[in-house]
Amino acid sequence: MKKYDLVVVGGGISGIAAAVSSAREGLSVLVVEKFGSLGGAMSNSLVYPYSGASMYSKNKRVIADKIFHEMVDRKEKYNDTSWEAYKLVFDDMLMESGVDVLFHSTVFEAITEDRKIKSVKIATKSGVISVEADYFIDASGDGELIYMTGCDYQLGRESDGLSQPMTTCFRMSNVDIDLFLKEKDVLQEKYENLQKENKIINPRENILFFLGFGAGIVHFNTTRIVKHNPVDPFELSKAEITARKQVYEMADFLKENSDAFKNSTVVSIASHIGVRESRKLKGVYILTEKDVTEFLDFEDTVALGNYGIDIHNPSGTGTIQFHLNPGEFYRIPYRCLLPKEYDNMLVAGRCLSATHVAHSAVRVMPICACVGEAAGTAIAVAQKANTTTHDIDIKTLQNKLREDGALI
Ligand SMILES: Cc1cc2nc3c(=O)[nH]c(=O)nc-3n(C[C@H](O)[C@H](O)[C@H](O)COP(=O)(O)OP(=O)(O)OC[C@H]3O[C@@H](n4cnc5c(N)ncnc54)[C@H](O)[C@@H]3O)c2cc1C
Repeated sequence: MKKYDLVVVGGGISGIAAAVSSAREGLSVLVVEKFGSLGGAMSNSLVYPYSGASMYSKNKRVIADKIFHEMVDRKEKYNDTSWEAYKLVFDDMLMESGVDVLFHSTVFEAITEDRKIKSVKIATKSGVISVEADYFIDASGDGELIYMTGCDYQLGRESDGLSQPMTTCFRMSNVDIDLFLKEKDVLQEKYENLQKENKIINPRENILFFLGFGAGIVHFNTTRIVKHNPVDPFELSKAEITARKQVYEMADFLKENSDAFKNSTVVSIASHIGVRESRKLKGVYILTEKDVTEFLDFEDTVALGNYGIDIHNPSGTGTIQFHLNPGEFYRIPYRCLLPKEYDNMLVAGRCLSATHVAHSAVRVMPICACVGEAAGTAIAVAQKANTTTHDIDIKTLQNKLREDGALI
């Protein structure tokens, strides 16, 4: 059986940061990814743009972000406004760090003994293989390793288990953007009127779009599927189908009601519906709303965040937001990455330990990258000291993150 120092489940932005940071410390690392490219939600669910990435305040970096910055800097070298080049950047970062990657491979079972994960079973194009490791990181977004190993977790919000809505992002080309910007308020009014008349099924309150992909391209993050469980296979499948209907509902609405869209076409639809929230670890510490809004300090801070609370209504219309002022940031403690049940496992990214409200802030991509970097560095600290994830020396970890420019 193949053996690594670390297996990372999931090659999204948090898994990439975790793998690169630990491999650069000399660990042998395998990333297992069920799709054919790295990037996770940003590649497969077309999520765009980075949130809370206004990383400079008074010329100081605000969030813990050495690897995230490297991603952005390396992407700048490609003369390409689309985000496709990130897939190459991520390949390069993993290959240069000596990380092994298994694409088109899904971790589906974990073999555990006492408080340790011993190995995982992976479904590949040639059947099942097993891989052993000393340490494991769950960077699967949906907390798949959390689920397989029986760790305590919270699905969706605490009151009723509903998760933030799912959204299928899509892009339209050949849009007259200047005209669209002039017409957008009128379009918004028409959209709301049709919603009131039940002629639009999408419950989202507004047309959410982003520019920045170059001439004539508009990115839409505007479909909304509520009250579907993102980790129930049947509900997830229904959500994919309904969201795709909403894509064309919106595209047709825009073409019918705006000259800006009369020659436009849908050029891409995400191949995996975007999941904002699903399983979240109930770890040694659960990050709370108060921690985020009152900027509380922790002795074991390992990552920082500067994106505010952003809850898309899990049951219908509306979005709740709490914005941070420039220069403000909150802290994420190591204990939010640490399952109570195992001594050789951490989580990174979207499935970290936070309440529904706190999670709505820390779930964004730059912060997921920071948390991934902290997790990968923590595993390197544990491996070098030949100790457990519960017994690592936090000061050593924090000093290492500071040395790397990943913590202030
Ligand atoms: C619609 C939508 C809009 C958003 N908008 C923004 C935004 O504007 N700005 C922003 O910064 N953030 C935004 N986010 C949040 C952000 O995209 C995600 O929270 C973040 O990308 C999560 O990163 P991750 O690495 O934790 O997980 P993911 O990106 O989900 O990566 C997890 C990876 O693990 C893989 N995987 C899962 N299970 C297995 C398994 N069993 N075996 C092998 N591989 C597995 C998946 O294929 C995936 O590639 C949005 C999210 C959504 C859904």
